[in-house]
Amino acid sequence: MALPLPSSLSPSKISSFTDCPLAFRFEAIERIPSAPTVATVKGTLVHAALERLMTLEAPARDRAAAQQCLAEARAELPTDPEWIELALPADQQEQFFTDAARLVEAYFAVEDPTEVEPTGLELHLEHTDPTTGMLLRGIIDRLETQPDGTLVVTDYKTGRSPNPRFAQSRLVGVHIYSYLVEQNYDARPGRVQLLFLGDRTIVADLPTDQSTRAIERKVRAVWEAIVTACDRENFQAKPSRLCDWCDYRDFCPAQGGSLELGLETAAALRAGGPHA
Ligand code: SF4
Repeated sequence: MALPLPSSLSPSKISSFTDCPLAFRFEAIERIPSAPTVATVKGTLVHAALERLMTLEAPARDRAAAQQCLAEARAELPTDPEWIELALPADQQEQFFTDAARLVEAYFAVEDPTEVEPTGLELHLEHTDPTTGMLLRGIIDRLETQPDGTLVVTDYKTGRSPNPRFAQSRLVGVHIYSYLVEQNYDARPGRVQLLFLGDRTIVADLPTDQSTRAIERKVRAVWEAIVTACDRENFQAKPSRLCDWCDYRDFCPAQGGSLELGLETAAALRAGGPHA
């Protein structure tokens, strides 16, 4: 019996399948949620602060306002399910918030927020591929319009920038966002960029006919590979250094785990029972 297809693809799902098809199966097909980490929760908090900052009038976007935006986002943490699940000990919370404040401060080293003209923040876009019927979704941190009318896609990253040899692979996500913008607004962005706050670096690229066609081919190829894997119930493990951080090691035969245990866990979750 074929496995159910995911309802949509997104840059993170494409990256997940490309990194390891088996981990993708546990997360996107079997719907076993991965546990929040300090890095992901901190990233969400910093994103929320920068989103708030961009809603202010341009001249008001200074350092003090940014830290105030962080404080407002922090005030919502106690009801955030991921923060609650993280259950960070009190002595580690101070470091968590110090790091978040440092990342918000670092933002001012990569650009001047008073010069940004946001067109969309946390912008949800989607497009159905007429050839495959696949629904592609994305949430863009920031879409802006420059004075000359050029659209710019920006994604914030709270980690450090990659070795230049791997920069192109890290840009795939923003190129997919550019593709979604083009499909929805009939206008191709003139720039895509990743703002790495961890080391205060911008990695940028220029979408072209060639890059846009390459993204379209890549998304279709990943979708077709997922369809085939679902048909055959065959999602291969792809061991790499990412295994050290994988939430599905107990279910992974390549790591001595049990696929059956993973499927039982998924079934228990679907039935509303406890995690196996
Ligand atoms: S442990 Fe490694 S190989 Fe196994 S599912 Fe996770 S990422 Fe894939």
